[in-house]
Amino acid sequence: MPHELDAVRARILEAVAAAARRVGRDPTEIEIVAVAKTVPAERVRGAVEAGFTTIGENRVQEAESKVEAVNAGFERPPRWHLVGPLQSNKVRRAVALFDVIETIDSIALAHRVDRVAAELLPGRRYPVLLQANVDDDPSKAGFEPAALEHELEPILELSNLRVEGLMTVGRLVPDAEAARPTFLALRRLSERLRARDHRLGPALSMGMTDDFEVAIEEGATILRIGRAIFGHRH
Ligand SMILES: *Cc1c(COP(=O)(O)O)cnc(C)c1O
Repeated sequence: MPHELDAVRARILEAVAAAARRVGRDPTEIEIVAVAKTVPAERVRGAVEAGFTTIGENRVQEAESKVEAVNAGFERPPRWHLVGPLQSNKVRRAVALFDVIETIDSIALAHRVDRVAAELLPGRRYPVLLQANVDDDPSKAGFEPAALEHELEPILELSNLRVEGLMTVGRLVPDAEAARPTFLALRRLSERLRARDHRLGPALSMGMTDDFEVAIEEGATILRIGRAIFGHRH
C-alpha cells in the first residue's frame, strides 16, 4: 500500500539529487538522517517502510522509549544516530542504543564514549562525529575550531572510536543562503584537519530542512532532516 511518506521521500531524494548535480556530486554518497524527535514510533515506522534507513533522535531518553518499538519486525531495522547533546551520565545508555553518536563535543566525552564502547562493544571501533561550533555561537555546543586543531590528535588516538568526520548545528538564519558560510566553514575546517591527520574521516553532517540543498552544495555527506519528512513538530 503506498504510504504518504513514499511521496515525501521521493521529493526529498529528487531535491538532493538536483543539488548534488549542480555541483557535480554523486547523490548516492549523501546519507539522509530522518530526525524523529517528538514523532511517535508508529509514524517513524512509516518512514522506515517508505525507505528511510537512518533515524536521528536528539535525546537519549526519547530514543529509549522508541527504538525497540520502531525496529520491531523489520528484517533490516534502521540505524540510529544521536544528533543532540550527550550528558556524560547517559553515555552508557547512548552507546547501547545508537549506532552513531554525532555530537562528541569535548575530549572528556570522547574518552568516556571510548571506555564504554570498549566495554559494551569490544573488538570494534564505535563510530562518532565531532561537533564543531564553527559559528562561535555561545548558545551552541561543539568544539571551538581552534581548540579542535589541538585536541584532535588525542581523540584520534582512542582505540575504540572511529572518528568518521565533523558535524555542526547552524544558527537560525532567515534563509538557506545565509547558512552557507557555516557549511563552508565546516568543510574548510575538515580539510585543514584532515591535511594534518587523515585518521579523521571525511563525513560532514550539516544541513536540515530549510537549508540541506545549500549544505549539499558545500559538501555535506550527512543531512539531518526532520520537518520536511514528518511535518511540523508540536
Ligand atoms: C531537530 C534537529 C534537526 C532537524 O531539524 P529540521 O529543521 O526539522 O529538519 C537536525 N539536527 C538537529 C541537531 C536537530 O535537533
